Amino acid sequence: MSAERGGLVSLVGAGPGDPELITAAGLNALRRADAVLHDRLIPRELLAEARAEAEIIDVGKLPGDPDPAASQAAINALLIAQARRGRRVVRLKGGDPFVFGRGGEEADALQAAGVPFEVIPGVSAAIAVPAFAGIPVTDRRFASSFTVVTGSEAENEAAPIDWAAIARTGGTIVVLMGGRSAARVVQRLVAGGLASETPAAAVERASTPRQRSVVASLGELPSAVERAGLRPPVTLVIGGGAALGGRLAWFDRRPLSGRRVLVTRPAAQAAGLAALLRAQGAEALTMPAIELVDADPAPIRGAIARLRAGGYDDVVFTSVNGVERFAARLREAGGDARSFGGARLAAIGPATAAALERRGLRADLVPDVYTSAALLETLLSGPIAGRRVLLARAAQGSAVLRDGLRASGAVVDDVAVYDVRAAAADAAVVERLRRGEIELVTFTSPSTVWGLVEQVGAEALDGVEAAAIGSVTSAAAREAGLNVRIEAKVHTIEGLVEAIVAAHPRQDVTT
Ligand code: SAH
Repeated sequence: MSAERGGLVSLVGAGPGDPELITAAGLNALRRADAVLHDRLIPRELLAEARAEAEIIDVGKLPGDPDPAASQAAINALLIAQARRGRRVVRLKGGDPFVFGRGGEEADALQAAGVPFEVIPGVSAAIAVPAFAGIPVTDRRFASSFTVVTGSEAENEAAPIDWAAIARTGGTIVVLMGGRSAARVVQRLVAGGLASETPAAAVERASTPRQRSVVASLGELPSAVERAGLRPPVTLVIGGGAALGGRLAWFDRRPLSGRRVLVTRPAAQAAGLAALLRAQGAEALTMPAIELVDADPAPIRGAIARLRAGGYDDVVFTSVNGVERFAARLREAGGDARSFGGARLAAIGPATAAALERRGLRADLVPDVYTSAALLETLLSGPIAGRRVLLARAAQGSAVLRDGLRASGAVVDDVAVYDVRAAAADAAVVERLRRGEIELVTFTSPSTVWGLVEQVGAEALDGVEAAAIGSVTSAAAREAGLNVRIEAKVHTIEGLVEAIVAAHPRQDVTT
């Protein structure tokens, strides 16, 4: 009967921590879901993929937690009840749902209740953690098998583990729930005949920016875990491929591994820069320092009317936002690409030129260096006296362009197409800045500097290093009392990330 009403439960593996490690099938199910029941440790970015109307239920902290059996029964009942309302339910679990995830018990309960279900496997910590630590679970040279086992007594009550048999496999041993149980696991394996010199590793939060690991002999592993203060989730990898030691620890050796960086761009643009930083290994936090607001529409309307009447020889854009906001106003006024007529178009850099291109407009002028000064120089390289120029940009645009053009005899309309103001601060990020937990802050315009200072106050930025997209932004940051350590040579977000990477030399590869 429930099938007729269309209810379905998908048991979905979310992967080991990096939100990108969910499968395509899992992500599709998540995006379609009416309800999502998730464990602790599911990345926030994944939950954000659910539809706004979807009900998100954290079942990692159900009441009755001291009694895990009762809370599992409550989760089963909730899954059944949700599906019987005809809903598409995603049960989102860390790693793979059937690897120490109680997925089997949930599937059994659904089956018994006549609720249709499917299983979408996930990238289990059992293989992902060794991979992120650079430990091949099998390798012709060291390991022809691997064993996945739990270190938690609670998980193996009904089916006790034969540690002596595992000690004899000769393959790689992967111990989940291994942090707190390390001493007991090691003692049993050694009692089972595994040499205490056997190479081993323990890895915390693999695949996330907080990944940490220790490498030690089996005998030394528990004290190494203790000394490093590793906290769950921790996986132990023993023998077999662990013989490689830290030799292939690629993840820890990415240029920005272990660095925490703040992105201050407006919300719509923050994701691109954050993704570039993460790709280099950084933990990128975002807190937009500014937001864009509409400027007074009257001058824009006037400029648009004049443009359509052929009243400008040059139209100059100095940001993607400028292009987008101007194009939106132009459309509202009934215009489109044709409204530019024969006017020459200038863009400050490639991103701005690409924004024009998306609207079927080609930039005639793009300077080699992406600054107002270079743009001015490019405009002045041809005849300029008497030309009628429209600057369509932020209200806070620098005077360099306008004054330079006027000084050379151009007739300039400097029209604000948008205004920027400080965005609301995120209390959690502000707190981390104050505690000195963020070592680097990126600035992509002077207004992001002013916005952040307004949000958090200059004192909170005392010990923080700043990275600026160019000299104008650097100057604004220095003026605000910030310690500018990095300035992009190429004034794009790619150039900014390149400069940050260059300032953080790769650690030496250890063998
Ligand atoms: N179903 C999950 C495992 C659940 S048991 C899966 O297939 O991955 C939870 C254990 O998995 C943790 O105690 C830890 O040992 C391991 N684990 C999960 N994510 C991890 C991570 N990012 N880094 C290290 N260990 C992890």
